Amino acid sequence: MTFNYFDHDLSSLHEQLKGGQISAEELTKASLDNIKQTDGDLQAFLRTTDDQALQAAKSIDQAGDFNDVLAGIPMGLKDNISTEGQETTGASHILEGFKPVYNATVVKKLQDAKAISLGKLNMDEFAMGGSTETSYYKKTTNAWDHNKVPGGSSGGSGAAVAAGQVPYALGSDTGGSIRQPAAFNGIVGLKPTYGRVSRFGLFAMASSLDQIGPLTRSVKDNALVLNAIAGFDKWDSTSVDTEVPDYTKNLGKGVKGMKIAVPKEYFGEGIDPEVAAKVRAGIAQLEALGATVDEVSLPHTRYGVAAYYITMSSEASSNLQRYDGIRYGFRAPDAKNLEEVYTKSRSEGFGNEVKRRIMLGTFALSAGAYDDFFKKAAQIRTLIIDDFNKVFDQYDLIVGPTTPTPAYGLGEEIGDPKAMYMGDVLTIPVNLAGLPGLSINAGFSKDGMPIGLQMIGKAFDEATIYQAAQAFEEASDLLKQRPAIAAAYQGGDK
Ligand code: GLN
Repeated sequence: MTFNYFDHDLSSLHEQLKGGQISAEELTKASLDNIKQTDGDLQAFLRTTDDQALQAAKSIDQAGDFNDVLAGIPMGLKDNISTEGQETTGASHILEGFKPVYNATVVKKLQDAKAISLGKLNMDEFAMGGSTETSYYKKTTNAWDHNKVPGGSSGGSGAAVAAGQVPYALGSDTGGSIRQPAAFNGIVGLKPTYGRVSRFGLFAMASSLDQIGPLTRSVKDNALVLNAIAGFDKWDSTSVDTEVPDYTKNLGKGVKGMKIAVPKEYFGEGIDPEVAAKVRAGIAQLEALGATVDEVSLPHTRYGVAAYYITMSSEASSNLQRYDGIRYGFRAPDAKNLEEVYTKSRSEGFGNEVKRRIMLGTFALSAGAYDDFFKKAAQIRTLIIDDFNKVFDQYDLIVGPTTPTPAYGLGEEIGDPKAMYMGDVLTIPVNLAGLPGLSINAGFSKDGMPIGLQMIGKAFDEATIYQAAQAFEEASDLLKQRPAIAAAYQGGDK
C-alpha cells in the first residue's frame, strides 16, 4: 500500500482512521516504506524507530481510540528533543549513543494524543547552523533539489515534511531554525511565542531564545499540532500559565480589516530581488483580500545579528558545559587523567561550529569583555523589543520575507560562517523579542526553489497569524505544487 500525504491533511487522515478506511498500522507501515524509498536522496532521518512505531500503532488500532485528531498519525521529531530510551544526539558526536531517561514534555503530550513517532530527524549539531551541514552524521538535502541545502537547523524536519515522509514534524527555533527550513522547503513553520510551548527535554542551546514548534504542509495542520503541544508546564520555569485557545478558531475569517505592517528594513541590502518580488506580490495579495498595508520602520533590525550571536553564544557556552565526557554520551578513549577526560572528550566530541560558539560565548562573558559585549547585546535586545512594541501598538501583524535568499547549494556557504549568520537577519529579531513568527511559501524562484513569506504576531497571538496565513494559502494554489520526490508515491493514493 502507498499512502499520499500530499492529498490528505491531518483532518482527512483523522476521518479515515476514525471511519476505519485505514488503520494506524497500515499508515505507519506505508510511511516507513516510503521513508526507505525516499531517504536515500533526502537523508532526513538520523534514525527510524520502526518497532516502537508499529507497536504503538497496533495498540492504538486495538483500543480503537481515535478521538484525538492526531491519534494514529505518524510524525517525526528533531533530534534535540528527548525521547525516553531512544537515542537522542542533537546530531553531535559527543552524544552518540545517549539515551535520555525521560521524555520531553512535547513528546509526552503527543504520546497522550496517541501520535506515532517514526524517529529522529537530522539537524545542525546542537541546532547551531542554518543548513544542517554541521550535523556530525549526515547531510540532508532539500526536498525540491537534492543539490541544495534543506536549511537549518531543523533541516531534517523541513525536508521530511516537504517530501511527504511525514505529515508533520517538530523542530526548534532559536534564531530561525523552524522558519528558515520551512521557507527553504516551501512549507509552513511556526515559532511560537517564548513560553508558549514547554522547553523541558529540549537540549538547551540558548535558553532565553529557544522554542519548539510545528512544521507542516498546511496552516490548519500547523494549528492542530500547536493545539496539542502548547501550554503551561511546571517543569519549565519559563513556560507561561495562560490559556491555550483553539488555534483553529480564526481559520476562515479572512484578513478583511486586518492591519498589516511591512518593515522597510526587511527589503534592504542583501535581500535577493526574486525574494523581494515574490514577498511583495504576497503582500499585495493580502491587500487584495482586504487587509490594510502600511510601510513601517524597525530601525534596530541591522543590529539583531550581532546582538543574537553574542547572546546566543554566551548562553550556549554555559549550557554546553554539561557535556564533560562523564555524564552523557561520548568519552575520549585515550584520556589519561580527569583533565584529559574533559579536554579530549570535548575537543573530539564537538564540531567546529559548536567550538566557535563556545569560545565566542566564553569570551563575551569574561570579566574584561562582559560590559562591551554581553551587556551591550542585552541593551540592543531591549531596543529591538521596543521597535516591535511600537509597531504592534497600531498593527495586527508584521509581514516580510523569512530569509534574504532561497536555498543555496550544498557546501556553498559552510566555509563562510559570517555569510551564513547574515542569512538569519530577518528571523533573529523575532526570537530576541520572544514573539511568534510563521513562514509560508510565497512562490518559487526562477530555478524552482521555494521563497518564504514571514508573518510576525503579537505575543501569544498565534491565532491571528494562522488566520492571515490560511487566507493567504487559500488564495494561492501553492499547496498543490509538489517536489519531484513526491513521485516516489507510485500509484499515488492508497
Ligand atoms: N541559524 C541560526 C544559528 O545558527 C539559528 C539556529 C537556531 O534557530 N537553532 O544560530
